[in-house]
Amino acid sequence: METQHRKLIIIGSGPAGLTAAIYSARAELSPLVITGSQWGGQLMWTTEVENFPGFPKGIMGPQLMQEMRDQAARFGTEFVDNDVSAVDFSAKPFKLTTPAGQYTADCVIIATGASAIWLGLESEQRLRGKGVSACATCDGFFFKDKDVAVVGGGDSAMEEATFLTKFCKSVTILVRGPEVRASKYMLERAKADPKITFRFNTSVAEVLGENSVTGLKLVNAETKASDTIAVQGLFLAIGHKPDTEIFAGQIELGKKNYIAVRDLTKTSVEGVFTAGDVHDYRYRQAVTAAGSGCMAALDAEKYLHSQTAK
Ligand code: NDP
Repeated sequence: METQHRKLIIIGSGPAGLTAAIYSARAELSPLVITGSQWGGQLMWTTEVENFPGFPKGIMGPQLMQEMRDQAARFGTEFVDNDVSAVDFSAKPFKLTTPAGQYTADCVIIATGASAIWLGLESEQRLRGKGVSACATCDGFFFKDKDVAVVGGGDSAMEEATFLTKFCKSVTILVRGPEVRASKYMLERAKADPKITFRFNTSVAEVLGENSVTGLKLVNAETKASDTIAVQGLFLAIGHKPDTEIFAGQIELGKKNYIAVRDLTKTSVEGVFTAGDVHDYRYRQAVTAAGSGCMAALDAEKYLHSQTAK
């Protein structure tokens, strides 16, 4: 298999990866983006994005990603719509393997993102974007005066539920066990909110509705009794998983396998940078990921310049 060499390879094509591509292409680094087999990242699963600056009327998630991709292409970014299956960062140039070919690179930006963890129900996947969401910040606004439920018992669930009370008529937090694991402060704040009610020992067995969510079939873990509640929205807040499997053993991973980051964009390997949700478990917004992609591209440019000046 022929090996191709590039100055800069960006792995991932969400807002972080594509913003890194726009900046590095304009800096004439001729980046190659290995997009992942499903390019575009988490926004490809959303409908309307209303909080990305510059779009006062909102923009559909997939369209926003297409615009970013076109913008990166305009300045000469090349794309390979494939997954990276393995990397070797032990020596320079770095080696990257895809099912279609091998690449080497002087510099790499990892922007593979993170994925929300889902319950795995067929009905949940069918109604994703039609009332089922894993991001209250993104989608809460669409549930004005509606009844919704949030699954989870961690800080995310408390935060999402509290955020949703700004819009929704009622928010039911569904906790699978007898207690939450959220911090005391977050829990107390949620408990004090009159719009929020808790149901413990409760799991979602099915999301009801044909083309939009109309309710949930719930099961009690202790009694096994089931009942249904009427809601128009279901928010999952059961954690996120960074897409870092292929980097294990190559760069340092930190808490919950997010990339350990130093000096904002650097990984433990000199010349390998990171951007977006793959290291940021705190903000997780399209606009913060894009900002972080810009930072990684500027640092990669500086790094490559320092190497040629040696
Ligand atoms: P956590 O891993 O802390 O919590 C996940 C929750 O989801 C747990 O209650 C868990 O239940 C539940 N859960 C997991 N799988 C399922 C399932 N299949 N069905 C039903 N429930 C399930 O994730 P978070 O996203 O809440 O938090 C991640 C990190 O980010 C934490 O360190 C948190 O403190 C931090 N964070 C901080 C915030 C802040 O400070 N503002 C805001 C949000 C997050 P169980 O307990 O039974 O395992």
